[in-house]
Amino acid sequence: MFFLLFRIRKSGVLCMKFNTELLHKNFNGDPHSGATVTPIYQSNAFGYESAENLEKVFSNKAAGFAYTRISNPTIEAFERRIASIEGGIGAVACASGMAAVSFAIMNVLESGDEVIASAGLFGGTIELFRDLSAFGIKVKYVSSVTAESVREAVSENTKAVFAELIANPKLDVVDVKAVAEVCHENGIPLIVDSTTATPYLIRPIQLGADIVIHSSSKYINGSSNAISGVIIDGGNFKWNAKKHPVFKDYTKYGKFAYYAKLRNGLWRNCGPCMSPFSAFLNSVGLETLGIRMERICDNALQLAELLESTDGITVTYPALKSNEYYDLCQKQLNGKGGGILSVRAGSKERAFKLINSLKYAVITSNIGDVRTLVIHPESTIYIHSTTEEMNNAGVYDDTIRISVGIEDIDDILADFKQAIEKL
Ligand SMILES: *Cc1c(COP(=O)(O)O)cnc(C)c1O
Repeated sequence: MFFLLFRIRKSGVLCMKFNTELLHKNFNGDPHSGATVTPIYQSNAFGYESAENLEKVFSNKAAGFAYTRISNPTIEAFERRIASIEGGIGAVACASGMAAVSFAIMNVLESGDEVIASAGLFGGTIELFRDLSAFGIKVKYVSSVTAESVREAVSENTKAVFAELIANPKLDVVDVKAVAEVCHENGIPLIVDSTTATPYLIRPIQLGADIVIHSSSKYINGSSNAISGVIIDGGNFKWNAKKHPVFKDYTKYGKFAYYAKLRNGLWRNCGPCMSPFSAFLNSVGLETLGIRMERICDNALQLAELLESTDGITVTYPALKSNEYYDLCQKQLNGKGGGILSVRAGSKERAFKLINSLKYAVITSNIGDVRTLVIHPESTIYIHSTTEEMNNAGVYDDTIRISVGIEDIDDILADFKQAIEKL
């Protein structure tokens, strides 16, 4: 009875703002129990009362779950919520951000194809691209993904452009609208990794991006308690089997072509599904994304201003007036710069001293936590990269990456001030 009341109360449709959407858009609690959060369906298989019914599920003639590698109610609830927040037609949840990057790209490509990407990508993605060369896939790096650089680099074999919306850790910002236009003129999709931007800063699909990826291990989860990723299909790209022969059996699905190919192809067969437990944690995390990001962006800007006013330290942060992406940040990101700062301390010794003197910031290779995190990328994340690869990613021996948390800003500022005094 209670759950009937619950279901009826939520049946109206209103135009929602962002924080309301995070809680209510495309989400109605658990239809079977009225539970306000979808419970963890910690089961790998789902039973049916007849062979006929299971046959219907397998042949897509009836809705239902069969096996968790393919779908599961907890995972599906998360997929629906993130897809509707990003404005996509569907989402596919993955075991990690790297799985999301891998399958988002491999869904489009075959041997002999080329991808254009910026040199300032997340280190793991650069290593993945190196691995893909064994499968005949080439990556053409440009110093940053812009309309001009894509126009110049594009060739007959280019089948996708891949960019990080706010690159981690270089922090260059992609003009999605301008780049998407050039991609579409050339019949290729724009795939963006929006991990550091989050839907709080931007909905890339509205600006023309075709596929959006998140490492949901970061801001979407928010508390660093699960590794996972997600691929969201905007549904707007016009797939053409002449340009992308791998789509020949899927163009019949129209706007669902990419999504259908992903679900029924490599993603399903390689098995990188999200765990139901991670999906549950991500759904809970997603609900507070808006208020966390609001606080994180405010904190990050204030910390960036403090560091910028310190002699011997330089700061890269897109929302600072001195930053080359300031105008784009105002226009495209609502003036918000996200939670990551890149700082140059003057020398490796000074960088280590600053890091070691901080009392609250955790020294760790992660971003997007509620806690402030710091790392010296040169000696950690980029330890296996060449100097050129590192510098292309905006990393030098004195670089510190800071992922700003939701602590009280007075405490963060006081902590950095006392650490700076020790230099
Ligand atoms: C962390 C990260 C990834 C990889 O995600 P995992 O969940 O660690 O596999 C990909 N892209 C960006 C921008 C990231 O920050």
